[in-house]
Amino acid sequence: MPKGTALPPPEETVAAPRQPDISVDLMKQMTKRLSADDFEGRAPSTAVEPKVLDYIIAQFKAAGLQPGNDGKWLQPVPTVEITASNATPLQVGGPAAMMKFDFGNDYVAASYRVTSHTKVEDSELVFVGYGINAPELGWNDYAGVDMHGKTAVILVNDPDYASETEDGLFKGRRMTYYGRWTYKFEEAARQGATAALIVHDTFPAAYGWNVVNSSWTGAQYYVQTPDDGADQTKANGWIQKPVAQAILQAAGKNLAALTEAAKHKGFKPVPLGLKASLGFDNAIRKSTSNNVVGVLPGKTRPDEYVLYSGHWDHLGHCTPDDTGDDICNGAVDNATGIAALAAIAKANVEAGPADRSQVFLAVTLEESGLLGSEFYAANPIYPLDHTVGGVNMDALMPSPRSRSHSMTGGDKSDLTAVFREALADEGLGEVPEDHSERGYYYRSDHFSFAKRGVPMFDVGRSTDLVEGGKAAGDKISEDYTTNHYHAPSDEYSDDWNWDGIAEDVGLYYRLGRTLADSDMWPNWHESDEFRAIRDKACAAATGGCHK
Ligand SMILES: [Zn+2]
Repeated sequence: MPKGTALPPPEETVAAPRQPDISVDLMKQMTKRLSADDFEGRAPSTAVEPKVLDYIIAQFKAAGLQPGNDGKWLQPVPTVEITASNATPLQVGGPAAMMKFDFGNDYVAASYRVTSHTKVEDSELVFVGYGINAPELGWNDYAGVDMHGKTAVILVNDPDYASETEDGLFKGRRMTYYGRWTYKFEEAARQGATAALIVHDTFPAAYGWNVVNSSWTGAQYYVQTPDDGADQTKANGWIQKPVAQAILQAAGKNLAALTEAAKHKGFKPVPLGLKASLGFDNAIRKSTSNNVVGVLPGKTRPDEYVLYSGHWDHLGHCTPDDTGDDICNGAVDNATGIAALAAIAKANVEAGPADRSQVFLAVTLEESGLLGSEFYAANPIYPLDHTVGGVNMDALMPSPRSRSHSMTGGDKSDLTAVFREALADEGLGEVPEDHSERGYYYRSDHFSFAKRGVPMFDVGRSTDLVEGGKAAGDKISEDYTTNHYHAPSDEYSDDWNWDGIAEDVGLYYRLGRTLADSDMWPNWHESDEFRAIRDKACAAATGGCHK
């Protein structure tokens, strides 16, 4: 069992939902269709998108759902693609000499602002440790400094990433939101910083500079916002560790010593007495893709919502394999999740409406950085403080039945109690999440909701198969990761074993239906990074969160 405080029994006891009748035939048929070659790998904003959307809408209709966006099935998602070029070196200077660092080899940067030219000039550098502001932990790496006009130099991950256990303020080796690079840029912007530079380090980052370099050069994708990103920093980027060492040395400091200091509560930001400049041009291209939204109105409390989400998009045409096949079909990732959305919708329609409304959201642009779910969560059709919680489904693995499941992200919220009841009812066991240091909870569509306070399930099936045990399960999972993940061979086969997926989807049905038939408002645990956000949203809402 995962570490964490034992939970009290849930306050309300809820009648277990009827055993769902999940149609495996429907899931087979939909997965096959969605991953067929003529859907070309479902790349968003391409000629194939309308065909894919029409098919999903037809399936949602056939399942008995109603259009979920004020009589319409679609929610347009306006996006912007920004590609930087002509970058100048990063120049850092002070009383002594000026240092120059090359774009690509030494540093990378991009702008979250929609602007044709980015220029950071003579911006004072401040070392802000891990760049974390966590009021619930009494931790603020920005304490006492006004970041306006300044550039934050930030360590990657969080203070206790190297721990062997999951104990500690930042949950030891387990990744927290505060350890994700996305958080660090968001917080730097909230602090009013002009720019933010993360110090790359291979072990805590979990990938080398080559990955940073390739993902931060070339086109970057964002959701369009009314202010064109004016509330963001001018530039976000990464610097190589030796670059950071050189900069700190020029400031008369030492990176290792400051890193050690930053691991302790009460750390104060350190102005470096140096100024940084950088600049680049931006090519801007705007386009629109779409989320599909269906709803099954609740019978007694239709203005309270339970959410199911899954992404319909995939990579489209991609690098060809040895056979010359260049269509990344995305059968597992995530035709299975869309098929599961329809199958769960159909089972709920057949069981009759729940007390609360259930929303079925097929989001776009997950593969470009969770943009479809981000747009929905930033522009919710159903208010988030009236959204009880939900389940996200991404890449259901065809394999035989398993003995156990795990909560991705660990025991973060009252949803754990619902999960454990459902497991007990299904005769399944619970195992801790594999590789909790990788932070999977922060890397799919549920996270767009979680970071705004909505408790979301992300549940994983263990590889410990009923027949063949872990050896057999690991073999299937490794084969997928090595040979088929994000590759042209992620294709449907009539030989797939659907038993594991059927079991997963039965569990997902039960989790959502339990929430939809209850009057509980699950919250995050007191020490969780999203608790204060949910409490604030609920306090501000009229009639929200069961008040
Ligand atoms: Zn996926």
